[in-house]
Parts: sequence; C-alpha cells; structure tokens
Amino acid sequence: MAEFDHRIDYAKRLDKHDPLARYRAEFYTDNTGIYLDGNSLGLLSKRAEASLLDVLDSWKRYGIDGWTNGDNPWFYLSEKLGDQMAPIVGANPNEVIVTGSTTVNLHQLVSTFYQPNDRRTKILADELNFPSDIYALKSQLKLKGYDPSEHLVEVKSEDGHTLREEDIIAAMTDDIALIVLPGVLYRSGQVLDMELLTKEAHKRNIVIGFDLCHSVGSIVHELSAWDVDFAFWCNYKHLNGGPGSTGGLYVNQRHFGSEPGLAGWFSSRKDKQFDMDHELTAAEHAGAFQIGTPNLFSMAPIIGALSMFNEVGMEQIREKSLKLTSYFMQLIQAELAKFGLVIQNPIDDHKRGGHIYLEHPEAARICKALKAEGVIPDFRTPNGIRLAPVALYNTFEDVWNAVQILKDIMEEEKYKKYENKRGVVA
Ligand SMILES: *Cc1c(COP(=O)(O)O)cnc(C)c1O
Repeated sequence: MAEFDHRIDYAKRLDKHDPLARYRAEFYTDNTGIYLDGNSLGLLSKRAEASLLDVLDSWKRYGIDGWTNGDNPWFYLSEKLGDQMAPIVGANPNEVIVTGSTTVNLHQLVSTFYQPNDRRTKILADELNFPSDIYALKSQLKLKGYDPSEHLVEVKSEDGHTLREEDIIAAMTDDIALIVLPGVLYRSGQVLDMELLTKEAHKRNIVIGFDLCHSVGSIVHELSAWDVDFAFWCNYKHLNGGPGSTGGLYVNQRHFGSEPGLAGWFSSRKDKQFDMDHELTAAEHAGAFQIGTPNLFSMAPIIGALSMFNEVGMEQIREKSLKLTSYFMQLIQAELAKFGLVIQNPIDDHKRGGHIYLEHPEAARICKALKAEGVIPDFRTPNGIRLAPVALYNTFEDVWNAVQILKDIMEEEKYKKYENKRGVVA
C-alpha cells in the first residue's frame, strides 16, 4: 500500500475496492460497536442463526428421529462438519472432526499420542502458551506418573512476546516424546512455522501437534501437506461458531487406527455403535477421537458460519486480514506512537497472525475507555491490548475510526477516569 495516507477517504477507498465487503451485511453488527474482538468471540451471522434454528426445529419436528432425519441429521453432523472444515485447515476430509472443546480435545490427543518410554518421557511446549494448554499438559504428565516440573519443558522467549523457531528446534532433544505448540501465539499474534517445526520434529522421531485457536480461520494451513501429526482448536473465535461452540480436531491419516486415549461410544464405527458391544470398534478416521453425544446446539451455528469461509476460501480471507492489520499498523505508527503505545506483534506478513498487539502501562484502563467509546478491544494482563480487525465483517473505516477514538482517549487522557485493573473476563 504505497500510496498510504492517513485520511478517512483512503479508508473509504479501500472499503470500496474490498471484494469481501458484502459479507459485513451477513453479520449482526448494529449493537456491538466497532468490534475488534473477533479473535476472542466472533460475531453472530444470519447464516449461523439460521442453522441453529434449523437444528432446533428438527428437534421440534422429529423428536428422537432428528438423529437421522432432516437436513442435518444429528448422528452424522460431527463428521459432516469435519468434512466441511477440512479445507480451512488444509486436511483431507476424514482427518477432521468437529467435537469436544479445545482443552478436552487436547486431553484426548495427548492421552492418545503421548507414549513415553524409557528414553523419551518429556513433553515440549512453550512459556508463552495459553494457561489451559499448560494445565492440561501437566495433568497428563501426572496421570502417567511424571513430575511436570521435570518433564514439561517450556521453550523460553527472548523478548517476552515471540518464540524463535531455532530455540524450539534446539529444545527437541532425545528425551522429548511429544511437542505441543500454538499455530499463532495468543498474545503477540506471532505465526509459528508449523511446516518447519514438523519437519524438524519428525527428523528426531518426535510426534508434534498444534493448538490452532488463534490461527484457524485467520491464516492458511496445510496440515496434511506439512505432515502435522495432530491439531485442535475452538470454533468460537475467528470461525464465529458462537459462545462455547463445539471445537475441532485433526489427526493425520497415518495415525488412523490408533486407539483413542479417551474412548467413548462415539469413538465407534457408526455402523457398529448401536450393536452395544463391550468391545469398541473404533472408527478408522478422525471420528475415533470423539467421546460422547455431541452438543448439537453448540455445533449447529457452525454449519452456517462455515459456509461463508468455504464460499470465500482462506486465501482471500488471509489477504484481507493482512491488509487490515497492515493498515492498522501504519495508522498506529503515524498517530499513536507518540503516546507510548508500542506495537508488539510481528511486523512481517508471514509472521503476523490476525490481530494487532499493543502494549502500554495503562492498558487495562485504556481498554475500559475504548469500550466506553464504542470500540471493543480485549485486554491481556498485565499491559496488552489486542485488536482484531476481522476480514468478513470489519472495514478499513472501522480501523480508521478506532485509531481516531484511541488517539482522542490518549490526547485527552480519558482513561484516567477508570481504574487500571482488569474486569472478570479479559
Ligand atoms: C481460546 C483458547 C483456549 C480455550 O480453550 P477452551 O477449552 O475452548 O476453553 C485454549 N487454548 C488457546 C491457545 C486459546 O487461544
């Protein structure tokens, strides 16, 4: 964007030439302000609402027969959505299943793929990861009789914001049995080179999986081509599946036939499930990693939400997302740097995920002031402000307006009206 200029006409011009502009009208945006929190909870779309109502209606209409009747028979919905989600993560259809939640799926995959032996007992993660992932890994180690303080290795960050692939690779020592890392870091938004890390892990015979919570729906993945062993994610952030919506997981087809670490009757081959046999015949695809009856109403909005992603394709979504964040950074440099707001997300396109991460000592109350002025950011303790302009429903004008409002808050010191403390959520 060589011709960058900081006036609103430029933002309007970018919106006018945006091929995805028409998708904004598919979402409910009237009451949510300038919404820049789609990486925590995506907004409701009309399609997601319709698909939720459709599944509700099938309960009304069919009762128990909703399991096999209607447009979205419940018995097959996890598999059907897995097929539809596969292109979004670059997987084969049978390698993806919509089930569980991020943390539950992590437990499932670690209890399946963490196979310590005499030589290899440790799990490699990183010190910047989301706490839930770390708690899950520690409890998995304890369940196998290992002390997490010795057997969980957390790669250190040099700058407190990002990880260096060479540091991660150097930590892939021959006592590591399993690696779990994020695709995109939840604070700084750094994209990790999943292909390189997978290649290096496999050279050392280590199984590797990724948490895609902040990368799914935001960047392009090629999980199958990269040969990643497993991955898991939530569908309520960039994918707009609704609060608490059912999660997703991927298992490389090389591992089909592995016994699920946490089995249940939905791990079964579908044609065998109702035989009620006490010997599980696990499905020979990612479906084997389901546990029990799916939460249908937490899954139903995903049907509508996904249809937009598949219509547009991840390449176009990523392209617009990069333009939005790049424009955001240009405006921040031009208008906000003088107030001590520091950009801490990676600047390069190939290293930058779907959000901007700013730091300021007064971040908690700057976020409160932003909310009071109709801009929805999210605060990450101790001093981080995440701002996610989302390709399907945010505009360049949203970004322009958010920067003007933030500038006004800083100039007038409006944040001083608030306590510099976080709220209960965020
Ligand atoms: C959002 C997020 C989670 C949330 O896990 P749930 O089980 O869905 O509550 C976990 N890990 C990461 C990295 C996240 O970004």
